[in-house]
Amino acid sequence: MWIANQRIDAAATGGWIDSEDPATEEVIGRVPAGGAADVERAVAAARDASDGWRYTAANDRAELLHEAVARSTEQHDELVELLTREQGKARPEQEEEAEWALTSLRYYAELGRNGSGRVIPSGEPRSQLNMVLKEPYGVVGAIVPWNYPLLLLAWKLAPALAAGNTVVIKPSELTSLVTLRWIESCFDHFPPGVINVVTGTGAEAGEALVAHPDVRVIAMTGSVATGQRIASVAAPMMKHLHLELGGKDAFVVGPDADLETAADALAYAALLNAGQVCTSAERVLVPAGMRDGFAEAVTAKVADLRLGHGLDAGTDLGPMAADRFRDKVTAHVEDAVSRGARVVTGGGRPDRPGWFFEPTVLVDVDDDMVIATEETFGPTIPISTYDRLDEVIGRVNASTMGLGATLRSSDPLAIKRFYEGVKVGTVWINDPLTDNYAGPFGGMKMTGGGRELGPEGLETFLETKHVHWDFSQDRKDWWFPYGAGEDDV
Ligand code: NAD
Repeated sequence: MWIANQRIDAAATGGWIDSEDPATEEVIGRVPAGGAADVERAVAAARDASDGWRYTAANDRAELLHEAVARSTEQHDELVELLTREQGKARPEQEEEAEWALTSLRYYAELGRNGSGRVIPSGEPRSQLNMVLKEPYGVVGAIVPWNYPLLLLAWKLAPALAAGNTVVIKPSELTSLVTLRWIESCFDHFPPGVINVVTGTGAEAGEALVAHPDVRVIAMTGSVATGQRIASVAAPMMKHLHLELGGKDAFVVGPDADLETAADALAYAALLNAGQVCTSAERVLVPAGMRDGFAEAVTAKVADLRLGHGLDAGTDLGPMAADRFRDKVTAHVEDAVSRGARVVTGGGRPDRPGWFFEPTVLVDVDDDMVIATEETFGPTIPISTYDRLDEVIGRVNASTMGLGATLRSSDPLAIKRFYEGVKVGTVWINDPLTDNYAGPFGGMKMTGGGRELGPEGLETFLETKHVHWDFSQDRKDWWFPYGAGEDDV
């Protein structure tokens, strides 16, 4: 673990968690299984550093973030290799993750220099000043998943630090090695206690962080179930929660779409990171008359993709991150097949070591099948049909989650109706899964409502305070007793 710029080599209770390469099933390292005592120590360090960091000049904070970018760039190859070994996806995707993470650091380093707040009109403009201040909360708990461990950490860490908060990180138990390596090798020039890492399970280390009274903000990305648990633990303390939870994104093929390029776009949107992306295309809606041609085009794209170790040149799809995630994918496929869906390609586990699952295309999928309602988080492409574009918005909105949605079309009227009608945080027209640092990312409904990136991603780590300042200490005539003024008259 990493507390007050010191490497902590064992948890208070002495337990350990193995980290495995999901493509080979080999143990590649281990991290301490931290718990409440370790969280206590990390939060104390973060609290002690809090005042000093809050009053560090924003420009100095920005320079420290830029220095972390420079160090990360020097360590790029080593970090990407470890990230690939621990997380699994193909190397080009890991390269992108590492680069995007640094862009986030650069973006918030600069945004943080601007500060914020405003002066508003006073009741007595000559003798009063009214200000809206934006202040750091203090200690932020950052709880991170395994699918983009550096990127999703950077989206929390960079704005939290730029806003003047100190941070305690709880990485996923599946990707703690790379998180620790990144922080200890690229951020140890920050003042001690400003950034801390406690490794451990969600139930032990994660929950202790959420329950700690000195942690005023929990910024968490993960599943809806974990978000609900965190919300219930945090509720008695009225903590500020920033939750980025699961999705069930729809990919809609418009009647005017070109089938070949739509199939290419879908293969990318559904199979990036073996489908383990919160914004993966998890439901596909295609005009009934185009179904067979489209399914054929998608199957042809998928059949050419190569499964392999993320570090091997030519690998398109790595393994799933843990064996247990394959069970969920299998259950979703089996439920669909038992209720009338047909597997066109894939559907099983290839005969090789590692937690691979074949890219799987299904047709005849109904909206009430589990694969169309619950997050699968695997390499599946379930295809359903529609008769009229009018019905699509209601079907997209039938999900309890609302992260993103894609439409392939060039019809401006259809596009406008679509982006106005769908209840999701991001709408992609033709170009799925493309993020923009200036554009807030997050979801509606049970996806949690948090927003990362853009000014909104900084704002979430700032608390608002209104200061009303009267320059004089004069008595006001509306104070008690009420009768006094009338008697004078
Ligand atoms: P998860 O919910 O299992 O775990 C996420 C983090 O929460 C981990 O660090 C885990 O240890 C921790 N945690 C678990 N239980 C906890 C508890 N009781 N208290 C505190 N912390 C706890 O999710 P995962 O499997 O790591 O990630 C996949 C999920 O993340 C998917 O549902 C995916 O959609 C979602 N996700 C969402 C976004 C987004 O921006 N909306 C982005 C990526 C992933």
